[in-house]
Amino acid sequence: MSKLLERFLNYVAFDTQSARDSDETPSSAKQLRLAEFLVEELQGMGIANAHVGNGGVVYATLDATPGYEKCPGMALLAHMDTSPDASGADIKPQVIHYEGGDVVLNTEKNIVLTVAHTPELAKYAGQDIVFTDGTTLLGADDKAGIAEIVDMAAYLLEHPDVPHAKVVLCFTPDEEVARGTDNVDIEKLGCQYGYTFDGDEVGVLEYENFNAATAHVTIHGVGVHPGLAKDKMVNSARIAAKFLDRLPMAQSPECTDGHEGFMHPNHIEGDVVKSYIRILVRDHDMAKFEEMKRFLMDLGKEFNETYGDGTCEVVVKDSYYNMLEKVKLVPKVLDVVRNAYHDCGLTPLEKPIRGGTDGAVLTDMGLPCPNVFTGGFNFHGVYEFLPVPSMEKARDVAIALAKRSAEIESLS
Ligand SMILES: [Zn+2]
Repeated sequence: MSKLLERFLNYVAFDTQSARDSDETPSSAKQLRLAEFLVEELQGMGIANAHVGNGGVVYATLDATPGYEKCPGMALLAHMDTSPDASGADIKPQVIHYEGGDVVLNTEKNIVLTVAHTPELAKYAGQDIVFTDGTTLLGADDKAGIAEIVDMAAYLLEHPDVPHAKVVLCFTPDEEVARGTDNVDIEKLGCQYGYTFDGDEVGVLEYENFNAATAHVTIHGVGVHPGLAKDKMVNSARIAAKFLDRLPMAQSPECTDGHEGFMHPNHIEGDVVKSYIRILVRDHDMAKFEEMKRFLMDLGKEFNETYGDGTCEVVVKDSYYNMLEKVKLVPKVLDVVRNAYHDCGLTPLEKPIRGGTDGAVLTDMGLPCPNVFTGGFNFHGVYEFLPVPSMEKARDVAIALAKRSAEIESLS
């Protein structure tokens, strides 16, 4: 077994499921066990400065090779936690030489991953693939990313003759509960650019994500005994239904893909007196994003004109922005990674993310940070799998990035 695969299997043995609605940092203490394991491993490899920092974030710095100290530092990041959507405990990974067709993950429980469910599986016939036993997720999201980055570090340590800039490894908790960047100390990283290794199949390169906001719509009604309600009752639940009805179906997640944005009501609750609707607003294009937010505000005003002042409150809060706006100001960050893909015989499949990434937030914090594939599929569920050659390619991209870092004198 390759060292890379061994590392990956070591990491998935740790249950690092993060927790929604937790006040702790990290959201689940068990993530720290993997953090400590990684620090020990990295120190054992010769990175004495590896440590667990504030909030459970792991940092490890490979100093620039002599003569390359002035090159901008490059950060490589991945997240340690797994999704709360499926169990991450007692994962029983199976490395199977896949010959095509459906895969029986669990004979006893009759759990089968079918090509009908995941047509992409067919492309990987003839390869070794890591599957689950059908009862838990695998944790390739994002332990594949960690394994790839650690293996890159091992390569650089074994090849001191390979020039590179300062390379900082950074592993974060709580990405899956949207708190992954809360404790990342950009100053401490001391890098001018970075790459997350998180998700998606071999060759994918992502540096465009949604601009994201959440609209909180509260509708106030007037409660009266229904027997005496004539001309007095104002039923907020009915008004909420009308509000929802005004959201164009053509701008829903169900009817859009690629660069198309949407308004997505993903929660509603209420009664006669008070109702609440939560609406996610997403678009890659800033002008269209602003237009959707304005549409919702205007709709609120219109409802107040119809049903009376104060009936409808619309509060819109921005969550994160498309990293493209800032990444395109430093085109070298994209040149470097595209070149690294080509170095590994890959043509980058550049596609917009229909969601956010930690890289988007880091970019906003001043660390331009596109996302590199890890090779896995079907994240957050029991059908998750990871073709081993894809993981090797991602590791090779990490090495190529480190090598390319020595060519950058400045990002401007
Ligand atoms: Zn992930």
